[in-house]
Amino acid sequence: MAEELALALCLTKSKAHALVGRAEGLADRFPQVLRLVEEGHVPLASAVAVNDAAAWLDAGKAVVVDRVMAGRLMGKNPTQARRSTNAAVARADPEGFEERARRQCEARRFRLRHGVAGVAGLSLDNAPVDRATAAYVCVDRLARRLKTGDETRTLDQLRADVAMDMLVGKQFGGEVKAHVYLYLDALTYAGLRDRPAELAGHGVIPASLARDIAAGPKTVFQRIITDPGTGQVVELGRRRYRPKAGLAELVRVRDRECRHPGCTRPAQFADLDHCDSRGRGWKKGCRTGPSTLVGLCRADHRLRDVPGWEHKVTPDGTLAITTPAKQTYRSRPEPLGR
Ligand SMILES: [Zn+2]
Repeated sequence: MAEELALALCLTKSKAHALVGRAEGLADRFPQVLRLVEEGHVPLASAVAVNDAAAWLDAGKAVVVDRVMAGRLMGKNPTQARRSTNAAVARADPEGFEERARRQCEARRFRLRHGVAGVAGLSLDNAPVDRATAAYVCVDRLARRLKTGDETRTLDQLRADVAMDMLVGKQFGGEVKAHVYLYLDALTYAGLRDRPAELAGHGVIPASLARDIAAGPKTVFQRIITDPGTGQVVELGRRRYRPKAGLAELVRVRDRECRHPGCTRPAQFADLDHCDSRGRGWKKGCRTGPSTLVGLCRADHRLRDVPGWEHKVTPDGTLAITTPAKQTYRSRPEPLGR
């Protein structure tokens, strides 16, 4: 079958085999998800993302994930589908998830890839997410410090230069502080159960790793404890969440990621945008409050000023974005720990 497909679609044999494998996986293991595709409710790519993210589950647990994802998949693009499936998989098979995380970490490596015209790439694969994120935040902060008025290099170029200087041993002074949000429920934090936790911008991580990160003395991560029943934030670090923590932090913690549908940039680096149910921004009289602020990354924030785009926030917190083609897309922050 794969060979025929390779000929019909001008694919290499390995690509055709992968395609057949995915089709079989969907048909055999995720029939409810596949039905949504056949009925035209979700794109095939999102269903494939479910299959790929849950490929390692045994048949019994795949049935559970099929049912859960059939209820969650509507309106999700492939990236969101993959992350939502990761969360469902971690929930369905917590031990397997821990084991898989451990095995992936064992396969960590540092590679040099030669390019053309005098360039090469370096990559550090399968590093533990906490250390890789900390390293990225560190490089990013140092690069931003160098981005002064007469600096002509872009931020991407500065990050590359800073990282290279560090790798070859050049010294950079100063302490780097940054917050990356880590969400875990109170019972898991206390070690009473092992619900997977969530790292903003990354997705689910095993409970054991989350506890290690949360307890680490020099962590760049801000732990955010959630109510095991409702998934709502109950504590932010060591402080009570309200009213001491600022409104900006509250909104960023709630949103976790840029609220533009499909965007997964972490909210703690996002702009906070005023928007109400009439689509008014701050200049037009929108009030400041948790229900009228949404986190948007810089690129998506700019769309607010582009003619033809319309943003509205309904009283229940849903952000509705209408495009120039009059298509409306909606987003709400995903509930935590589901
Ligand atoms: Zn965005």
